[in-house]
Amino acid sequence: MTIHDSFAAAIGNTPLLRLRDASEATGCEILAKAEFMNPGGSVKDRTALGLMADAERRGLLRPGSTVIEGTAGNTGIGLALLGASRGYRTVVVMPDTQSKEKIDTLRVMGVEIRLVPVVPFTDPNHYARVARAMAEAMNATEPGSAWFADQFDNPANRAWHEAHTGVEIWEQTGGRVDGFVCAAGTGGTIAGVGAALKARRRGIRIGLADPAGSIFAGYATTGEAVASSGSSISEGIGNSRLTANFTAAPIDVAWSIPDDESVPLLHDLLHREGYCVGGSSGVNVAGAIRMARELGPGHTIVTVLCDGGMRYQGKLFNPGFLRDKGIPVPEWLDAAFPTAP
Ligand code: PMP
Repeated sequence: MTIHDSFAAAIGNTPLLRLRDASEATGCEILAKAEFMNPGGSVKDRTALGLMADAERRGLLRPGSTVIEGTAGNTGIGLALLGASRGYRTVVVMPDTQSKEKIDTLRVMGVEIRLVPVVPFTDPNHYARVARAMAEAMNATEPGSAWFADQFDNPANRAWHEAHTGVEIWEQTGGRVDGFVCAAGTGGTIAGVGAALKARRRGIRIGLADPAGSIFAGYATTGEAVASSGSSISEGIGNSRLTANFTAAPIDVAWSIPDDESVPLLHDLLHREGYCVGGSSGVNVAGAIRMARELGPGHTIVTVLCDGGMRYQGKLFNPGFLRDKGIPVPEWLDAAFPTAP
């Protein structure tokens, strides 16, 4: 029996799940890391631990320090829970478009939350820049009191995924893996896992599944950082700027995935296979299916189920919201909320 003595020790070593429908539809083995099973509920627990452990090693944190991060929510949740277990205070700056459920989760943890409007990265009011400026201001008055985690550009993010997530995938598949597909927010997961798998099998295919409206797929395909058409209700993935973690990713192929392809997949995952996952997981499964169709039957493709669906209940499982966005609403969802518009 394994006994974990802390929150940090319970992060990672997630199960690898065989996705039955996706596998049967493509003749491939489509496998997914169950990152929603991390103790803070998302893949970003790993990032939070990687960033924090690196900062502690470098003497940037001490008891009572304030951890500050710009986040779509999940990294903030991971940092706050780790911080609670290690004696740090957490402040997050978030775009005000993110789900109420993630914001409420942070609130009940006692996190200081600053919600800011969505603006381009060049604007000093961009959430990541506000977070960095807050840490700088605190350190100017009291040196060493604050640490800006900097998940987008801090290489400790991808390094942790290379040493852990990527190695776990290699070991859990016994090295029988032909491709890996996932979306990118910071790019830490795809860069780290990509590096770990390419180091062990040079010919492995690394695929980027990018939500509509992001620049990542265009950059990976043509080298030009131009946004794909449309927009997406997914959170935590896609970007309007290139990040240091993303540009380090060894990507072979990329797709822009529309919501009307990804959301039905996550609805089916819940109703047909019992996995309740968030929007980025739908994008990832859509990407894995696209890679499977490109490679043909008989291949093994791994992807990631990044977080749980209940973190987005008011969007992904809300008939009125989905209809407004032009996304198909399954019959069972309409039946579950008969008074929805
Ligand atoms: N899915 C979700 C739900 C996330 O919160 C994030 C992180 N922002 C990602 C996927 C993307 O992971 P990464 O930052 O490693 O690219």
